[in-house]
Amino acid sequence: MDKISVIVPCYNEEETIPLFYEEITKIAKSMAKEVEFEFVFINDGSKDKTLQTLKDYSKKDKRIKYVSLSRNFGKEAGMLAGLEYTTGDYIAIMDVDLQDPPELLPEMYKTVSSGEYDCVATKSTSRNGYSALRKFLTKWYYKIINAISKTEMVAGARDYRLMTRQMVNAILEVREYNRYIKGLYGFVGFETKWIEFENKDRIAGTTKWSITKLFGYAFEAIMSFSTIPLTISAVLGILFCIGSFIAIIFIIIKTLCFGDPATGWPSLVCIMFFLSGIQLFCIGVIGAYLSKTYLETKRRPIYIVKETNQTKKLPRNE
Ligand code: UDP
Ligand code: MG
Repeated sequence: MDKISVIVPCYNEEETIPLFYEEITKIAKSMAKEVEFEFVFINDGSKDKTLQTLKDYSKKDKRIKYVSLSRNFGKEAGMLAGLEYTTGDYIAIMDVDLQDPPELLPEMYKTVSSGEYDCVATKSTSRNGYSALRKFLTKWYYKIINAISKTEMVAGARDYRLMTRQMVNAILEVREYNRYIKGLYGFVGFETKWIEFENKDRIAGTTKWSITKLFGYAFEAIMSFSTIPLTISAVLGILFCIGSFIAIIFIIIKTLCFGDPATGWPSLVCIMFFLSGIQLFCIGVIGAYLSKTYLETKRRPIYIVKETNQTKKLPRNE
């Protein structure tokens, strides 16, 4: 019998966990003939009673595993912890707020277990329930990142997916500190089937992503999957060199023909400001990559587990 592990990252989700549990157990029951389940809840440093709720449920239901992190490490780290603490043959990642419909799971399982695909991923067709600003920024973010990165990022892709153990192991082999998992899926390859669903509102609670958090996330993705910004700064440098060279020749000729009445101080200041702006920008870009390298070389753990009732942890390949 196959085993499906469902990874559920939770951050201040005491209200949603009971609702989620109710839905997911219904699905698990409907699939009970073919598959057994394991639910790995990651408590990402919640400040409410999330951990207590999970503990209570785990006493009632042996399929419930919880991994509680020592502080809030972010959803990326939570998902990684989940991937490392699962034991199933197939692994699903699902939000606890029921924005990722558990009803799709039987169909996803059918597709992956037939062997034709290694992964079924989901994307939402609309972004109902999100603010207009967020919709707008998301749209442009995907346009930009796909233009400058070789790894394809699917617009509207959610973290909700079902993968084979083989694919999960491949993802765990990627040992980088600055993780952007949506890019890593593309990086490791494998056959992925995309299914779509209409986006739903969160069942309870509020979104844990602020616009600043999302900006940081987008920045992370661009830095992890593209070095184009470095090239852009180099190209800018060359363009300005050529430009100034042409300007010098122009000034020499002008001085030889018309003399030098010592004008042009304001324009000089403008040019100086402009160029130092560009220079600082380019140094900033280089600095950003350097800081990522710095963090990468420190090899800090991506998450720290405080307590868990899950016995097995996969060793990641060194
Ligand atoms: N989440 C998490 N750590 C965080 C932020 C979010 O584990 O720092 C979890 C959260 O509990 C939820 C999922 O990630 O299960 C998606 O979060 P949310 O619904 O707030 O994001 P949105 O749907 O607005 O993108
Ligand atoms: Mg949500």
